[in-house]
Amino acid sequence: MNNKLNIILFGPPGAGKGTQSEKLLAHYQLKHISTGDILRAERKAGTELGQQANAYIEKGELVPDHVVIGMVEQVVRQHPDARGFIFDGFPRTEAQGAALDQMLEHLGMNISMVLALQVDEEELTRRLLERGKLSGRADDQDEATIRNRFRVYNNETSPLIAFYEKQGKLQQVQGMGSVDEIFYSLCRCIDNASETH
Ligand code: AMP
Repeated sequence: MNNKLNIILFGPPGAGKGTQSEKLLAHYQLKHISTGDILRAERKAGTELGQQANAYIEKGELVPDHVVIGMVEQVVRQHPDARGFIFDGFPRTEAQGAALDQMLEHLGMNISMVLALQVDEEELTRRLLERGKLSGRADDQDEATIRNRFRVYNNETSPLIAFYEKQGKLQQVQGMGSVDEIFYSLCRCIDNASETH
């Protein structure tokens, strides 16, 4: 295996994955892969993929696995010289997690660690509604869609916690507090793991 730093930033919608990813990728010089951002860019560009994905996004459902897996693989392959990647909002199902492991192994890489942000549901809802006001994201403005996204997270995404725990890669991180406090906790996890490896 090579020594790239490949981090999965894990957590429910509104946990702060996007905000913390931006800070981490600047600090550790990593490449950001946010499947949500890619899908929104496709939608904005009016591509067929973007239009198809929009039907799922609007309802708070997951876009089919093969679509997002293909997108991620394309970005990883486009950046062979990256120091590593931050996966944000991916994987979201066990099938995506297994596909990511396989894809990275094929390229001589692996996941270094999975940092799971812990935030309670009341705070998540507050943050999403606040973000909805600022960003105009429709899926952040409607409480029924937000509730569905939590349901999908609990049913389809949270099993990945056990998946990565079994691999000994999961670290839980307190996701309540200021942006800088949480960033500091994440950096501590990354730096400690880098020292022991
Ligand atoms: P996000 O910006 O990560 O909250 O993603 C917004 C929406 O994009 C989600 O509610 C899903 O509809 C879709 N999406 C993003 N990432 C994935 C993924 N890994 N698998 C399936 N759907 C995704």
